[in-house]
Amino acid sequence: MKTMKRPNILLTGTPGVGKTTLGKELAERTGLCYINVGEVAQEGQLYDGFDEEYQCPVLDEDRVIDELEDRMSEGGVIVDYHGCDFFPERWFDIVFVLRTDNTCLYTRLENRGYTGKKLEDNVQCEIFQTIYEEAMGAYKEEIVHQLPSNEPEDLERNVEQITQWVEQWMKDNN
Ligand code: ADP
Ligand code: MG
Repeated sequence: MKTMKRPNILLTGTPGVGKTTLGKELAERTGLCYINVGEVAQEGQLYDGFDEEYQCPVLDEDRVIDELEDRMSEGGVIVDYHGCDFFPERWFDIVFVLRTDNTCLYTRLENRGYTGKKLEDNVQCEIFQTIYEEAMGAYKEEIVHQLPSNEPEDLERNVEQITQWVEQWMKDNN
């Protein structure tokens, strides 16, 4: 029996915008497989040095790519990461950049325990739409979409719309 082709989706955006929340719900709804790149790196210790300024390990991007390549070529994966320009462009059929209003994001990151420069820099990253521009530079513009992610209704609508997109993609590609 020939297996159904399934799309790969990238969920990206500033920390705190809701990638993990959306990714897990979407995986339940669509049956696609959810992958959190931060967790994959942590599990495999796929790091290359330490960032003193932010007090966090630096991802070894090449090893992360090697680790995920086989699963990505199979298809049917939802990838969650706060960066997006080092993944191979061919991996993704669609890219969603989640966006959150500044005050809302500030509160979420405070609740997560972020303070000082780390808090300010992440909110600035959202204000300057850094990840959106990174995505627009790394992928074909027509596959990059921004999604508002401020309130529970946004989450519901995003799950609904992406689920419909997945169903349509599968009809078109099988
Ligand atoms: P990320 O994975 O992008 O860092 P999370 O999914 O961990 O973000 O979400 C950060 C916080 O924001 C969590 O407390 C989550 O419950 C909340 N959140 C996520 N999406 C929404 C939304 N659409 N409306 C309200 N709160 C949300
Ligand atoms: Mg997350």
